[in-house]
Amino acid sequence: MTLLEGCVGVEDLVLLEPLEQESLLKNLQLRYENKEIYTYIGNVLISVNPYQQLPIYGPEFIAQYRDYTFYELKPHIYALANVAYQSLRDRDRDQCILITGESGAGKTEASKLVMSYVAAVCGKGEQVNSVKEQLLQSNPVLEAFGNAKTIRNNNSSRFGKYMDIEFDFKGAPLGGVITNYLLEKSRVVKQLDGERNFHIFYQLLAGADAHLLEALKLERDTSRYAYLNQKVSRVDGMDDASNFKSVQNAMTVIGFSEVENQQVLEVTALVLKLGNVELGDESQANRTSASSICDERGIQEIGRMMGLNSEELEKALCSRTVKTAKEEVVTTLNVIQAQYARDALAKNIYSRLFNWIVNRINESIKVGIGESKKVMGVLDIYGFEILEDNSFEQFVINYCNEKLQQVFIEMTLKEEQEEYKREGIPWTKVDYFDNGIICNLIEHNQRGILAMLDEECLRPGVVSDSTFLAKLNQVFSKHGYYESKVTQNAQRQYDHSMGLSCFRICHYAGKVTYNVNSFIDKNNDLLFRDLSQAMWKAQHPLLRSLFPEGDPKQASLKRPPTAGAQFKSSVAILMKNLYSKNPNYIRCIKPNEHQQRGQFSSELVATQTRYLGLLENVRVRRAGYAYRQRYGPFLERYRMLGRNTWPRWNGGDREGVEKVLGELSLSSEELAFGETKIFIRSPRTLFYLEEQRRLR
Ligand code: ATP
Ligand code: MG
Repeated sequence: MTLLEGCVGVEDLVLLEPLEQESLLKNLQLRYENKEIYTYIGNVLISVNPYQQLPIYGPEFIAQYRDYTFYELKPHIYALANVAYQSLRDRDRDQCILITGESGAGKTEASKLVMSYVAAVCGKGEQVNSVKEQLLQSNPVLEAFGNAKTIRNNNSSRFGKYMDIEFDFKGAPLGGVITNYLLEKSRVVKQLDGERNFHIFYQLLAGADAHLLEALKLERDTSRYAYLNQKVSRVDGMDDASNFKSVQNAMTVIGFSEVENQQVLEVTALVLKLGNVELGDESQANRTSASSICDERGIQEIGRMMGLNSEELEKALCSRTVKTAKEEVVTTLNVIQAQYARDALAKNIYSRLFNWIVNRINESIKVGIGESKKVMGVLDIYGFEILEDNSFEQFVINYCNEKLQQVFIEMTLKEEQEEYKREGIPWTKVDYFDNGIICNLIEHNQRGILAMLDEECLRPGVVSDSTFLAKLNQVFSKHGYYESKVTQNAQRQYDHSMGLSCFRICHYAGKVTYNVNSFIDKNNDLLFRDLSQAMWKAQHPLLRSLFPEGDPKQASLKRPPTAGAQFKSSVAILMKNLYSKNPNYIRCIKPNEHQQRGQFSSELVATQTRYLGLLENVRVRRAGYAYRQRYGPFLERYRMLGRNTWPRWNGGDREGVEKVLGELSLSSEELAFGETKIFIRSPRTLFYLEEQRRLR
């Protein structure tokens, strides 16, 4: 046991004295500076990104952690993975591992460490190894298509991911299911300064051999492509060409056929080439004139690759058909509209390709129906976001985090309660902030913000982002967690930081101001029918399959659910899934904004600890008893303090602990003897015991 001895700071924040924001930060900083990146809050693991390879991973460490119980070694992600896996294998409890934190905090690396730990300890044999390989190789493929260099993280996941890994009754892996959330598709057509498009584009250009490039009608030079940011094409320490080979190999291991593999690359190439389609005179004066394709050869090439008549493609890009009850009216789009249509098409092709890849991986790793299985879910999802300008994307991401916080508090409390019950100790009620009211504000079926947004999107007549906002202002004028300029004015509060087109939500993690600009458009997420119908006519089998709604026979079907509604229902499924499992938490923290080792910015970390609700977490955890330990290890450590238990003790563990603590005449309030564990109320008592040990 190394809980307090010979270590830097406390290894478990439950033992922090005094418990306040400042001491919590100091403790994390002290540990970080000593390369101790992991710290517990009970069974929750905090991980501070080291931005360097620490010598604490690999087979040797895996071997150590698999043989010890949770508190016996230093805090480590392997310890958490081990508890989760053992409890799944031996106690038949499905597990989930929830990894949260902001961009660059280390979530994806953590999820890979968990997966590699589990893969290393979960059974052997050729069949099992091939399943493991498939599961592990899904990572490079999803990262190639779903990750990108951003200002905050050179390998930033631009989608949320939940993966169920399924095991047989002996704990050997059978397969899995991956669910993805909300790919940031706007990146396909535009990136911020200093950022890149998705990795796969650069990998393909750098890694494809001349023959493949020729087949895809691509040129190696990234500067030839309008969709690739011209200023950043390389990332330090990242070898796009060799990653391309790894991704190709990973796809083969997973089970993509050569033909499928080729088709995926063709569709990827098509997206790049679409970006170069010029739709008329770009000069300011002519942007509102009728659009037309400037480069006939280019469009013909794209048409050939799609298996689509290039005139048909041109028509779909440059005009729009509106159906009325009596007739069809075709209007020509102006240059701006046509560019919008082209970009919408590129974004849609790419995001649908991404979904297709996820489904294709799932097909390979799926477990047969009827096979009994135990499940470990791993969630790697975007953390709470407050940017300078917050839009629809931040709104749904923060909604998801609000829900995760709800799960977190409820499950932590539930687990505490269950442990007390198991151990036969009376439960005392814990006060905590219940964020149900904020979740409701967003997700209520009729009166939630998402429902109202849908209502605006579906309502006939003139709707706009501002009619949406007006409605919110009216309905939530008295809601304690909603603010806007209008509600503020009504209450005579004058806050100049809030724009007229904004509303603000008081999230559990802090207030966030959202600009309603494009909420309607992003929620609608509609592709002009001309485009989907054209894609459906394409002969390219993969491309065509991505646009089933383009089938004219389908055209009269109901509109697909809005982006908000889809997200809400996938969050609901996720929550249900999480509630059915035993939770394990990894809270990732980014120590500085510069992706630099050794730098710890207290201010930055303070904000994150607030978003992660860490202080609240410690409070809940020590509301009853701050510390608990099984009788055996506890006695081993403290029996030297007892006259009867030292140097020898022949009785049972529990009696031994009773003897030692009895002799120290501790207040009975401070202790509770459970079935298998001793519970200690305040950290001070534990420090006292430690002090006594030192004095002997
Ligand atoms: P995003 O939300 O942008 O996807 P993330 O939380 O998934 O961010 P990661 O991609 O996991 O962040 O981590 C960012 C980078 O930090 C990694 O590419 C790696 O360089 C470094 N890093 C993270 N965790 C570790 C670790 N345990 N050891 C060494 N380096 C790490
Ligand atoms: Mg990530």
